[in-house]
Amino acid sequence: MDGRAAAVPVSRAMWKVNVFAASPLDRVAHRRADAAWLAERLTHPASRFVPVWRTRSLIVAGEASRAVLLDPDRAAALIAGGAQATFLGQAGEAAHFALDLSHLNEDAVHALGHAAEAADLWAIGATLERDDAAILAHARALVTWHARHRFCGACGAPTAPRDAGHVRGCTDPACGAVHFPRTDPAVIMLVTYGDRCLLGQQKSWAEPVYSTLAGFVEPGESLEEAVAREVMEEVGVSLTNVVYHSSQPWPFPLSIMLGFTAEAAADRLVIDNVEIADAKWLTRAELRDPESLGFRLPRKLSIARHLVDDWLALEP
Ligand SMILES: [Zn+2]
Repeated sequence: MDGRAAAVPVSRAMWKVNVFAASPLDRVAHRRADAAWLAERLTHPASRFVPVWRTRSLIVAGEASRAVLLDPDRAAALIAGGAQATFLGQAGEAAHFALDLSHLNEDAVHALGHAAEAADLWAIGATLERDDAAILAHARALVTWHARHRFCGACGAPTAPRDAGHVRGCTDPACGAVHFPRTDPAVIMLVTYGDRCLLGQQKSWAEPVYSTLAGFVEPGESLEEAVAREVMEEVGVSLTNVVYHSSQPWPFPLSIMLGFTAEAAADRLVIDNVEIADAKWLTRAELRDPESLGFRLPRKLSIARHLVDDWLALEP
């Protein structure tokens, strides 16, 4: 122990907790530059390693899936073979590291554990315990960031990880730029008009799913402005009363979804037909009878569904 009280993740005390948030790990960021402490943690018998293989997470699938965690002996052999470990945080005495196994072939990955499979976290996240979902999301995001930032954006020289994998430094001393893990903010919003809410179908979706509108925050705008701009661009509706709801880590690949509710000034829709193929106003009665809709609502694990379900819960 380092003498500090164990941190209680603040989001655990809140009711608006989304899947992939509220990790049980204490990030102990002040330890990341402590090489001796990290070396001890890498071999400590209580430490656990979270494999990520080419953006996929290793799980044992089932009605309640669970994350595959490797012990330090297994991890040491993989690290010696080229796997990169990135410190995530601690659960009690158990340090957790993400372990990038992307250099292995698929047979080698399956050989890591009985019945282990490499799964897309987006597809199987809802079958995991909340703690596992949050740890796997954290690991996936950091491993993806490393894989995409192998070269310095300032000078083009290779970068190398440091500070337990939370920084990549440029290897050209004349440049010396440091690069930090990236999280791209996106806004997602439930727009209402009277007793109806607005859901849209993205052009890129193959399945008939209607969901809340969403889009990336652009440089030079506030979150509220991003909400208003996206809704105006996609369906031609002006907003009032934009209110923050909750947020969700969204490592597909490197986002955080920032959820809002907003009221429309009018209900006339002008569909952009670029990002959105269709959008419609729906009553609570219609949404409570999903069989009759002819399309699917967003997945249960998503903040989009959380926004819809909270709106439905406002009235009996
Ligand atoms: Zn550089």
